[in-house]
Amino acid sequence: METKMNSVDNLVDNEKTYKQAVDILREGGLVAFPTETVYGLGAIATDERAVQRIFEAKGRPADNPLIVHIGKKSDVKDYVEKIPEVAEQLIEAFWPGPLTLVMEKKPGIIADTVTAGMDTVAIRMPDHPVALQLLKKLELPLAAPSANRSGKPSPTEAEHVYHDLFGRIPLILDGGATGIGVESTVLDVTVTPPVILRPGGIVKEQLEALIGPVHLAAKPEEKTETPRAPGMKYTHYAPEAPLFVIEPDASILEHAVDSIHQQGKRVAIIGPDELQTIKADWYFTTGAIHSHEAMAANLYKAIRQCDTTEADIILAIETDLTGIGAAVMNRLDKASDGKRYSE
Ligand code: AMP
Ligand code: MG
Repeated sequence: METKMNSVDNLVDNEKTYKQAVDILREGGLVAFPTETVYGLGAIATDERAVQRIFEAKGRPADNPLIVHIGKKSDVKDYVEKIPEVAEQLIEAFWPGPLTLVMEKKPGIIADTVTAGMDTVAIRMPDHPVALQLLKKLELPLAAPSANRSGKPSPTEAEHVYHDLFGRIPLILDGGATGIGVESTVLDVTVTPPVILRPGGIVKEQLEALIGPVHLAAKPEEKTETPRAPGMKYTHYAPEAPLFVIEPDASILEHAVDSIHQQGKRVAIIGPDELQTIKADWYFTTGAIHSHEAMAANLYKAIRQCDTTEADIILAIETDLTGIGAAVMNRLDKASDGKRYSE
């Protein structure tokens, strides 16, 4: 299959591109598009066969449910049995935006594969002009996971989608680099207090300021019961070389680099501007040390850049858990499979 990448950044021929996208989707095909978090790979969420193609293109395990993207707030009632009061408040405050709400689904509308056979559905309204325009023209909901091969970092540029899904999907809408850079927050509002299944673009502090205490889901392996979100059990975001998390300390870092070199190995480092060291074989910066936002925006690209090197080992410098730092560290925890660097 030929993969087209059409820019929707400028005004040239945008209408034609959207029409092409809508036609492909209506025929049960896949289209990758930018959102404010990461690029999504969309299929019409009510079309079982179309949704199946997402799993094939990504190589995604079938028990990992997808998020349904809608173009207007009022659409949510079409897919959900009952909208809890906290959800009403959250929708008013944070949609369009990087907050996904898990609610009881109305049976028989959204394809079963989207919800991995569960009685809940995860829904959000993305805050990106291209995503919103596409949804508006389509007038149907889109099931859309991140547009990467399963297990790889989510794409924050159209080029990343092309790299992963070339020959597997017909069309990528190129809207430039995404803004937030990590996925949406997934919040389960079927329970009280609500539970964050995945930290993301809307941070715990923002949620709590509006609706009071929310819980953070335990890691599935620490739980005795079945994880609420099956997707939580899979490894994710992993580069080719083993990745270790390390402290933001210049001397610890230099020591680590020396000892890796003594073993005859080469090292790529992902870290802030301020800790950049010429001792590293490769250093991919994620921005200013105190900017969690910059780190979120640049992390996935940096992980992908490591894959273009011959590094034997990757060190990723950690940040604290405030604000979007929680989402960043959640992704690094998965990319490293929990490994920390120690001598
Ligand atoms: P992705 O599509 O790659 O951004 O991942 C979607 C995330 O949403 C995964 O972590 C899923 O487990 C989660 N998710 C989607 N639908 C549901 C649902 N019905 N219940 C719980 N989690 C969900
Ligand atoms: Mg994903």
